[in-house]
Amino acid sequence: MTIIVASYITLIGLILGSFYNVVALRMPAGESLLRPPSHCPSCNSRLKSRDLVPVLSYMLNRGKCRYCGNRISPIYVLGEAATGLLFLWIYLQFGLTGKGIIGYILVSLAVIVTMTDLKYMLIPDKVLLFFLPLFFILVLIFPEGSLVSHLLGAVSGGGILLLLALFGGMGLGDVKLMTILGFVLGFPNVILAFLIACLLGTIVGGALLITGRIRRKQHIPFGPWLAIGALLAFAYGSDLIGSYLALIG
Ligand SMILES: [Zn+2]
Repeated sequence: MTIIVASYITLIGLILGSFYNVVALRMPAGESLLRPPSHCPSCNSRLKSRDLVPVLSYMLNRGKCRYCGNRISPIYVLGEAATGLLFLWIYLQFGLTGKGIIGYILVSLAVIVTMTDLKYMLIPDKVLLFFLPLFFILVLIFPEGSLVSHLLGAVSGGGILLLLALFGGMGLGDVKLMTILGFVLGFPNVILAFLIACLLGTIVGGALLITGRIRRKQHIPFGPWLAIGALLAFAYGSDLIGSYLALIG
């Protein structure tokens, strides 16, 4: 039974991931999500349903457009696969519980902002405004700990990033994103998410700098790291903080 449900959840993740691709690519450019229908960016051929099966179409066509043969950016298939796998991960961790439901929505936000921040270097307000009321209602229904902890998470998460933004180096989109993530994660999980994001950003940014793939002054998007930090803190934060406190206590 679990395997069947897990497969369904993964499939839903793959299909939603395909939709999140569209949202992430079109929304920052101010384009409609429905029109025009999906088309190849090189030859403009309208894609048929057999071209739109998540992951599978890409693999069967070997990463090329079926009409003009031009290569299709792997970012689409990565977004689909990531959403499917992360949905499966949330299901295996939390199943169909309240925390699980918040988890699926958190994954959705994480995937969309990662893609918009990588592609356009921004996190659209429209995306945040869509997720904010969802999280607000879900956290009220399924709070983890006290509501004060969630509010404190929002204030401290947003506050830290606002301070960083005032000194430059952080966009206002990151501040707004972290306020929402902080509300979902609560305090002190939000701090853990921030530390993980800084650690990953420093390691990967440093590696890119050393290998010469980026220049010193080049802006690196922080949204993806915040998204990954938030997902890890969401799933493992209480355990990690618990064992840390046990270690120093
Ligand atoms: Zn084409």
